[in-house]
Amino acid sequence: MVKVLIFLRMYRLKAAFLILSFAAACASTPSSRRGAPDFSSLTLCRGVVISNAPATDHSRRIANYDPQANIRGKVLLRAPVNACVSSGFGPRRGGAGSFHHGVDLYTGRPSAVYAGGDGVITSVDRLSGYGKTVLIRHGGGVETRYAHLSSYAPGVRPGARIRMGDVLGRTGDTGNATAVHLHYEVIVDGKRHNPLTIAH
Ligand SMILES: [Zn+2]
Repeated sequence: MVKVLIFLRMYRLKAAFLILSFAAACASTPSSRRGAPDFSSLTLCRGVVISNAPATDHSRRIANYDPQANIRGKVLLRAPVNACVSSGFGPRRGGAGSFHHGVDLYTGRPSAVYAGGDGVITSVDRLSGYGKTVLIRHGGGVETRYAHLSSYAPGVRPGARIRMGDVLGRTGDTGNATAVHLHYEVIVDGKRHNPLTIAH
């Protein structure tokens, strides 16, 4: 009986969620924005040692996290994928022992990677180290890079206009990667910055 009640409650929740999602989808005019993620918090991955981990609260949530950055009037997602942080920005100790120019967002299995902001795709390429990579120019000298992808979404090609939340492809481990994750970079005037803290 209890099980049936729980099931019914879940079903009701699901129905409510579907109605809400539908309403939300109708409310947003450009169809490309329907998939825009709204991840209000971000956590550090569990079970991995992260030598350059960003500051967190007691439940491993990134401290003072703001999901969006406004850089020169360009609004960007700080983490354009549903994931946990497996490596922060900055010098890494141990095996890799190098400066990490982006943030690693671990998804475990291939998952949708969203465009961090509105812009134009300038490069879709397989690069050594980065693997399958997409570069977006947002204007004002602001760019974002998405590396180690396993696949590209249809229509993802140089010159394509893109809106925040459009799916670019799926996470993977192409290039120099040991786990399925997104390596995400925020670039301003050619210099790579910490996506989690820039313009905070
Ligand atoms: Zn990385």
